[in-house]
Amino acid sequence: MIIGHGEPGASVTLDGQPVRVAPDGRFVFGFGREAPPSAVLEVTPPGGPTEKRTLAITQRTYDIQRIDGLPPSKVTPDPALDERLKRERAAIGAARKHTSDALFWAEKLAWPSRGRISGVYGSQRILNGEPKQPHYGVDVAGPKGSPVTAPGSGTVTLAEPDFYYEGGIVIIDHGYGVSSTLIHMERVDVQAGESVAQGQRIGLLGAAGRASGPHVDWRMNWNGVRLDPELLVSPMPQN
Ligand SMILES: [Zn+2]
Repeated sequence: MIIGHGEPGASVTLDGQPVRVAPDGRFVFGFGREAPPSAVLEVTPPGGPTEKRTLAITQRTYDIQRIDGLPPSKVTPDPALDERLKRERAAIGAARKHTSDALFWAEKLAWPSRGRISGVYGSQRILNGEPKQPHYGVDVAGPKGSPVTAPGSGTVTLAEPDFYYEGGIVIIDHGYGVSSTLIHMERVDVQAGESVAQGQRIGLLGAAGRASGPHVDWRMNWNGVRLDPELLVSPMPQN
């Protein structure tokens, strides 16, 4: 995630697509796992001229694990779940589309829980030759029932206690298309529409949904782009 500073009233495009600019001239955008090696940013102050910059995007390598010989039921979800999964995916998509005028994206984010990092952004499994969706969050393992806190301030756009994959899930809109998603909670303590402050408890850490052990999985979006949350916080404090 990148925060730019333009003049008030500037207009901004990224690869030709308009980027929303705050009244003070700041703007936010980001790149995900599949980003190409370069992107073009154009900033036009009121009255011009346009300043054009080609941004070089560092390409990373991600951990890819191949597992073969699994029973097919472990690879393809049960068709009886289709309706439920469709409904839950739609609810998550709608919550992430929510984009407010808040400027909380400009504040430094904080870890939602402290503990061992048990999963990283971008890793992927290929099961029986079928690539699964990459892991788009950072996992923090911790004791079941410990508090999960809001990584940044914002408005809760989704709060559900029991989604199939996610378990207890909370999505927080930080403004301008930037949102946090926190999943696998065993209890959710907030409601959709509620304002939360950074550091406020939003639920309790668990292993709800599809999780192999108690952890919180934190994801960040800029509109449809999946960001690596670990790049947006200070290193995990070592206790
Ligand atoms: Zn995870």
